[in-house]
Amino acid sequence: KKKEFRQAEVNIGMVGHVDHGKTTLTRALTGIWTDTHSEEMRRGITIKIGFADAEMRKCPNCGRYSSSPVCPYCGHETEFERRISFIDAPGHEALMTTMLAGASLMDGAVLVIAANEGIMPQTREHLMALQIVGNQNIVIALNKIELVDREKVIQRYNEIKEFVKGTVAENAPIIPISALHGANVDVLLAAIEEFIPTPKHDLKKPPKMLVLRSFDVNKPGTKPEKLVGGVIGGSIIQGKLKVGDEIEIRPGVPYEDHGRIKYEPITTEIVSLQAGGRFVDEAYPGGLVGVGTKLDPYLTKGDLMAGNVVGKPGQLPPVWDDLRLEVHLLERVVGTEEELKVEPIKRREVLLLNVGTARTMGLVTGLGKDEVELKLQIPICAEVGDRVAISRQVGSRWRLIGYGFIRE
Ligand code: GDP
Ligand code: MG
Repeated sequence: KKKEFRQAEVNIGMVGHVDHGKTTLTRALTGIWTDTHSEEMRRGITIKIGFADAEMRKCPNCGRYSSSPVCPYCGHETEFERRISFIDAPGHEALMTTMLAGASLMDGAVLVIAANEGIMPQTREHLMALQIVGNQNIVIALNKIELVDREKVIQRYNEIKEFVKGTVAENAPIIPISALHGANVDVLLAAIEEFIPTPKHDLKKPPKMLVLRSFDVNKPGTKPEKLVGGVIGGSIIQGKLKVGDEIEIRPGVPYEDHGRIKYEPITTEIVSLQAGGRFVDEAYPGGLVGVGTKLDPYLTKGDLMAGNVVGKPGQLPPVWDDLRLEVHLLERVVGTEEELKVEPIKRREVLLLNVGTARTMGLVTGLGKDEVELKLQIPICAEVGDRVAISRQVGSRWRLIGYGFIRE
């Protein structure tokens, strides 16, 4: 009998400071090592967003959670609960905009804090990012507990309690673990089950997929008649996609017009779909979805399509060349050691904007009370009311300084 394959139904982010154990924990929970790019292996840090799917299973005998069909604790057969896609985000400060693109796809997150180091700049910055994208479903993993003594664990627990006060993580459980030794990960899984529910997905809504990557999957030297079309990868946030569907991609592909770069939406057909690494006929919200198209692979190579939105022709949100935002500035610049005060936005300054998986620069052309108008370098496809993360260059880095909502 053919075993039914289920697609992941919830995306859970791994966030936190670099080296605190996000990739190690992802492997402890899923068996998958997400740092697979050569550059990542060489430098030992996560650079791209990695997805790792795993089944969540519960043992009817001892009640403990694992991803194994046989309970690792008592040997009884386990029962399937749901399939989770873990999104492993980079924790390095220079990769914050990549983290923000990932955060827009997370239904919940595990904030990893190493017990030996405690709360570090990117711990703050990532929690702020979750706050900004409006993510409320958070579990805190206090990792590497075998490196410290009991008093230190209690001290860290208290520091974290103080740190999350008044934030979206105020009521998040704090679970002490050792990702490296697999200690207490079943308790972490139980907390994930309780605090990060599967969102209600309305599959009847028009489909919307946010593009995180794109590829040319042809090997160099492939004969023209053997070439396959461009592949785009992302996460469906609404509705479903089917093989054979006509799709539109916005803002689309760049072209030159009188020396200026403009973007044009493009339509194509879905020729294949992959979800959780398998070919499927239909794909739903949850996990990374790969969409094979009839596009010229030249258009999709090297993540060129990242930041686009995919949907049915004529049913996508509008494309904006200029934005009007209702702005909320933070009090302090998070992510730095010194936590400088956030100065008001100035006319003619250039800000970095993240909207969904898209990132663009905006030149400030107008300022009002709690409002800013921007001319965008690359247009974005988004809904009125969508959240925009705002960063400013402080020293040599882009730093989160606030967020906004798109106004009409
Ligand atoms: P990331 O940057 O947050 O993804 O961190 P990694 O998962 O790459 O881990 C960074 C380093 O910490 C690696 O050398 C891991 O082996 C180590 N590490 C991760 N979890 C633990 C743990 O529970 N205990 C100890 N001692 N080391 C850990
Ligand atoms: Mg990592």
